[in-house]
Amino acid sequence: MKSFLKIDPDSHFSIHNLPYGVFKTTDNQNSRVGVAIGNKVLDLSVIENAGYFDSILSKTVFSCGSLNPFISLGKSVWSQIRLKIQSLLSDDSDLKDNLELINRCLIPMPLAVMCLPCKIGDYTDFYSSKEHATNVGTMFRGKDNALNPNWLHLPVAYHGRSSSIVVGGTQIKRPYGQILDAENKPKFSLSKLMDFELEMGFFIGKENTMGSPIEIENATDSIFGMVIVNDWSARDIQKWEYVPLGPFLGKNFATSISPWVVTMEALEPFKVEGPLQNPQPLNYLKRKEYNSYDIKLEVSLKIDGSNQPKVISRSNHKYLYWDVAQQLVHHSVNGCKMQIGDLLASGTISGPDRTSLGSMLEISWKGTRPIKFENGIQRKFLQDKDSVVMTGYCQGNGYRVGFGEVEGTII
Ligand code: CA
Repeated sequence: MKSFLKIDPDSHFSIHNLPYGVFKTTDNQNSRVGVAIGNKVLDLSVIENAGYFDSILSKTVFSCGSLNPFISLGKSVWSQIRLKIQSLLSDDSDLKDNLELINRCLIPMPLAVMCLPCKIGDYTDFYSSKEHATNVGTMFRGKDNALNPNWLHLPVAYHGRSSSIVVGGTQIKRPYGQILDAENKPKFSLSKLMDFELEMGFFIGKENTMGSPIEIENATDSIFGMVIVNDWSARDIQKWEYVPLGPFLGKNFATSISPWVVTMEALEPFKVEGPLQNPQPLNYLKRKEYNSYDIKLEVSLKIDGSNQPKVISRSNHKYLYWDVAQQLVHHSVNGCKMQIGDLLASGTISGPDRTSLGSMLEISWKGTRPIKFENGIQRKFLQDKDSVVMTGYCQGNGYRVGFGEVEGTII
């Protein structure tokens, strides 16, 4: 499959990808749905108005500011629209000779201002990386009690806050809160231990009725697509507040997501076997197929005063102990209702060695091994004006299915 557009082999947005996003432009302030292709955005509202989707859609869904109406049409419509877009962008498309329409529907990517892709009702954050949970547990409770007794039996999670989820590129204000001073007395202060968390999240694509759990056999039918998530964390606020009910103000001041939602259909060729699970999970959580993905993830840090970003971590989605299907099934096993557009994030994705850690807390090991930059500058945690960029892609044969990036600067 080839596109009539020239697409670099290392572009994240090949014709095999076609991720959905919501954007605006200077000359059209209406937010609308687009698909990333090479260095362009295909404006689906224009394609829709030109009648190309008439045989598939009975109402317009791409002229609005969120993907929710499109997602609610279900998996079979997602597939039909994907095929249609692929054929419109392919080598033998009749679109390529319609220069008037091409001028209206293909927008240079730098001109697109990206918005949040979905109206996110609820946000849940898991804790699904065994390496991350072990590292953090070792730091705070010692090696022998690193994993809590429940950890190998269920995907641990907490309910986050959707109101402070922002799209990549949004500046992040360092939060105030209660932290402990040197004498272990609480004081009100700006957080001094700002951190990022490298995660991936997925959007719910199909609702269950309250009281009816989603089953493992068809769990992935309920997932629309994935994004990269930076779950910003204030470690000093978190450490003082988290017992006994878990994360709260150390987390809910900001969470950044990448703007392009890569569909599960595009990710399908990159499914791989996940880590061996021992002990075997209870029946309702037992894997029926592979739902881990070979997504190469990278975190770069650009510090104030330096022009060169430095890669500080390379991880992979496939390291996650609990996969996306298990997270979703566990979330709804008590009958909890999942709604279209809900975001479920994985938790920090750390890998097996020191180059694959997904947070500053782990990379600097609680501040004991700072990251070194040129001119003797070092970082244990994030300083003001530091910028974190996360990116990720799957490598196909001569093409990529990628997520673009999610950037955030501390102010
Ligand atoms: Ca997290």
